[in-house]
Amino acid sequence: MHGLMQDRPLLISSLIEHAARFHPDTEIVSRLPEGSMHRTTWAGVARRSRQVANALAKLGIQPGERVGTLAWNSYRHLALYFGVSGTGAVLHTVNPRLFPEQIDYIVNHAEDQVLFFDITFAPLVEKLAPALKTVKAFIAMTDREHMPAIQVPNLLCFDELMDQQSDQYTWPEFDEKNASSLCYTSGTTGNPKGVLYSHRSTMLHTLMELAPDTFGIASTETLMLIVPMFHANAWGAPYAAAMVGARLVLPGPHLDGQSVYQLMRDERVTFSQGVPTVWMMLFQYLDQNPQLDPKGLGVKRIGIGGAAVSRAVLERFEKQFGAEVVQGWGMTETSPIGVISKLLPKHAGMPEEELVKVKLKQGRGVWGVDLKIVDADGKALPWDGVAYGHLHVRGPWIASGYFRGEGGEVLDAEGYFPTGDVATIDPDGFLQLVDRAKDVIKSGGEWISSIDVENAAMSHPGVAEAAVIGVSHPKWQERPLLLVVPRAGAEVSKQSMLDHLSSRIAKWWLPDDVLLVDSLPHTATGKLLKTKLREQYRDHQLPGA
Ligand code: ADP
Repeated sequence: MHGLMQDRPLLISSLIEHAARFHPDTEIVSRLPEGSMHRTTWAGVARRSRQVANALAKLGIQPGERVGTLAWNSYRHLALYFGVSGTGAVLHTVNPRLFPEQIDYIVNHAEDQVLFFDITFAPLVEKLAPALKTVKAFIAMTDREHMPAIQVPNLLCFDELMDQQSDQYTWPEFDEKNASSLCYTSGTTGNPKGVLYSHRSTMLHTLMELAPDTFGIASTETLMLIVPMFHANAWGAPYAAAMVGARLVLPGPHLDGQSVYQLMRDERVTFSQGVPTVWMMLFQYLDQNPQLDPKGLGVKRIGIGGAAVSRAVLERFEKQFGAEVVQGWGMTETSPIGVISKLLPKHAGMPEEELVKVKLKQGRGVWGVDLKIVDADGKALPWDGVAYGHLHVRGPWIASGYFRGEGGEVLDAEGYFPTGDVATIDPDGFLQLVDRAKDVIKSGGEWISSIDVENAAMSHPGVAEAAVIGVSHPKWQERPLLLVVPRAGAEVSKQSMLDHLSSRIAKWWLPDDVLLVDSLPHTATGKLLKTKLREQYRDHQLPGA
């Protein structure tokens, strides 16, 4: 027997109309690529979103067609988030940090019909345009005054185009399972693959993100989105902010420590989300300016994901900012939130050393995501915090496959998505990431977690960044090599690193060699690019090997 409740589809357009109706005056603050600050409100973004919808109709965009963006976090991008998906078209956020050949591949693979771009990317767009076969119009996200002088077919000005449109629009109703947005994984190997979100998956993910036991986003919040809107829908935060009418601060391309700090201070940010690399730039700025006191800023929470939170990062936010760190684990394929780290009542009063261990775990399952860890034969492993295995996940906001069938069938026999990560899960349901399966170091039949060794190395006061990779070894198959970027002016040596590590990790995990380097390569999403490091140090001769 069916229930007798209304069957209203869960659609993204409802978010912006809700924000406009119930939080019309709440500010949306942007630092534009042009450098200036811009202020609008949820009502203003809603008007722009309806104008986007009318403009797309004029441009002949049909439901289901893809609309590309190459853009930083700004109110214009936000209006596209709601305006494009709201019409039934698919918002395709392209990561501008990818190699041009990858962008070319992605836009053609997605068959984007139009491309909206920030003026910072004008030279890139001009270079790519001839190869972008399906793109009928290129729309610069700026005003007439700042229009770039580039040669591309059908170049339009965002502000001008939108100003010509009515700000009245009736959002269509359609199946909530229809696609809403598309995001390609950066693809450290092979071609990038498209993850195609639906209205339903997005709305359920948004509801989950608002719970106090997850990110707890509320209307009282000023949320600064450091995580880019071109990366996994900025962790869903634009939707979540609209659902509760939170005040948003969008930093544009200005992600250096000074700019981030200034926005935190001037806009009274209470919560901010970003990957560890951005926070490291903030800490560098604070190191250079010891007179600054971040405690007075009023930042309450910092959301971190995309890579492991090190103890140093955790403690700096807690001690220097007086802020709580909320770690999340996820991936583009999981919308992206899979688990979130929040302490349980039983942790109250726990000794600091024990507590830190819990806090550094990636987090506990949230409602909606089923987790399992399995061995090489697919057999489920116990949740004892010790057994480690391949992490598989299942749920209404987890990908069931890739756009246009790339990669074939990806789910296991029980319908779980294999994440490519290796993890433990403890009896309280806290997941701890051991490593990405391809990064784990296989030494004498046992596994060494590169993440654990990196985190131990990062707790050395002289270390700015650290990476650990496996290098082939005649006896042990692989042994760890530690690469360290010292902090400016710090004295770091191989011996001091090994001394530091020896009290923190098992003896057989100690790196066989330590190299000091000037910098480490990163992926387009700011993570260590281990494939490159492995290639670079493939023939490195470990001492004694
Ligand atoms: P890519 O970096 O390949 O573009 P994603 O951004 O989707 O793709 O990255 C997902 C991966 O990032 C996860 O599979 C995991 O390895 C890593 N990751 C995400 N969150 C965390 C975290 N909190 N701690 C450690 N690793 C994480």
